[in-house]
Amino acid sequence: MGDIKATALESLREALRGAVVTPQDPGYDEARGIYNAMIDRRPAAVAGCADVADVVTVVSFAHDTGLDLAVRGGGHSGPGLCLVDDGLVLDLSPMRWVRVDPATNTAQVGGGSLLGDLDHASHTFGLAVPAGIVSTTGVGGLTLGGGHGYLTRRYGLTIDSLVSADVVLADGSFVTASADDHPDLFWALRGGGGNFGVVTCFTFRLHPVHTVGFAVTVWPVDRTPEVLRWYRDFLPAAPEDLFGFFVLLAVPPGPPFPEPIHGHKMCGVVWCYTGDLETDRLDEVLAVVNDPAPPAFHFATPMPYPTLQGLFDPLLPPGLQWYWRGDFFDTISDAAIDVHLKYGENIPTELSTMHLYPVDGAPRRVGADDTAWGYRDAVWSGVIAGIDPDPANAEPIRQWCVDYWSDLHPHSMGGSYINFLGERESADRVRATYRGNYDRLAAVKRTYDPENFFHANQNIPPSAG
Ligand code: FAD
Repeated sequence: MGDIKATALESLREALRGAVVTPQDPGYDEARGIYNAMIDRRPAAVAGCADVADVVTVVSFAHDTGLDLAVRGGGHSGPGLCLVDDGLVLDLSPMRWVRVDPATNTAQVGGGSLLGDLDHASHTFGLAVPAGIVSTTGVGGLTLGGGHGYLTRRYGLTIDSLVSADVVLADGSFVTASADDHPDLFWALRGGGGNFGVVTCFTFRLHPVHTVGFAVTVWPVDRTPEVLRWYRDFLPAAPEDLFGFFVLLAVPPGPPFPEPIHGHKMCGVVWCYTGDLETDRLDEVLAVVNDPAPPAFHFATPMPYPTLQGLFDPLLPPGLQWYWRGDFFDTISDAAIDVHLKYGENIPTELSTMHLYPVDGAPRRVGADDTAWGYRDAVWSGVIAGIDPDPANAEPIRQWCVDYWSDLHPHSMGGSYINFLGERESADRVRATYRGNYDRLAAVKRTYDPENFFHANQNIPPSAG
């Protein structure tokens, strides 16, 4: 880096309340580290933003210096979209704050907050926002991509609860987007990813959720055909207060799973029941798990919603190797089941997995072009994730994921949840994600970011459409 940029970075350091970390500083490797350790990039600087003023300063600085900009929320992007080589990382992690207003059932959430921050703050009031299933995921990237999790069938996607967003635009200006103000931007933010600006605050509508029924049921992997055939019929017909995502896994070596099945390849369903636990018995709600085949293990218990949200955190600490790909499904065909069995029997590492997340129910009551999310008619959002701590396994887990995805893709609806697009997927895949909404997204991009300043994302170029 030349002297000019070094001098400029010094002036940035003086201007910000957040810390600026360059390769010369101690802590650089920590500052550039992201959740997926398969991604190793070396930015010119990581600029921590403590408030909106800092965000405006960093956006303007990147503009003036011509440095590439990446925006980091929770840092969970699989393909590492929050990190650039030689450019500037606008790091929102100092903006982790949540303010709940129980009078209006809304929460304002700082742009760098994690799901656990939001769940913690809203749980006190018996409220929650539907979001993802791992508490260390960023609210920012998850929401801008759409967001689905345990509460989705009942209360919709995360974007369906978004009331407004404060945004710093490419020219450094600041707007609040909502149904009434900048409605075109508000439409695009609900699914269009990080293409349109830096969101410094999300305002969400909250829903009554406190203690939920958690359960997990697993069957030997060779029962996958019977279980999936039962699951594909049962789940979409079940009441919306019952959510269950299908999983192929190697059983983790810890509670609640008994030691004899640790490490065994299994198929299973992870359940969340948001019905009335005072009157309904969880065992009775889930008695159906015996229908397809006798489970190898079934465990059910009520728990506070934030506890459920944090349940998988210890299994999935930062620093693992990840490679993932996704697709939407409106059915699980017999041919798809054959593919699931084949790759489920050959899961390459203990943590590698495949999940089918239900996105039917409440999300389908929102119109196909009411938000940028392009698959209101999908029933499942699927993800295949190769995961392992050892960098030596990076290639085997990538290959398993790519092969699995290649065999399964013909049985999908054609596009993927934008947040499940993997590394080295193409611009065509981004287009397929948005279907009929793509051209409108490109038009909004032309209005708000005509130079494609925000391009470290699943990019929608302003020239497209
Ligand atoms: P980052 O890597 O920080 O950012 C991802 C993208 O969003 C980048 O382009 C970034 O620029 C942009 N971005 C982030 N914050 C902002 C902001 N405030 N303003 C503007 N742009 C921003 N998704 C689900 O829907 N449901 C799940 O249950 C789920 N589970 C997951 C579990 C794990 C362990 C992981 C790793 C991911 C999971 N995901 C899930 C996917 C997740 O939604 C995406 O990885 C998402 O991008 C994470 O957001 P982030 O802020 O942590 O990511």
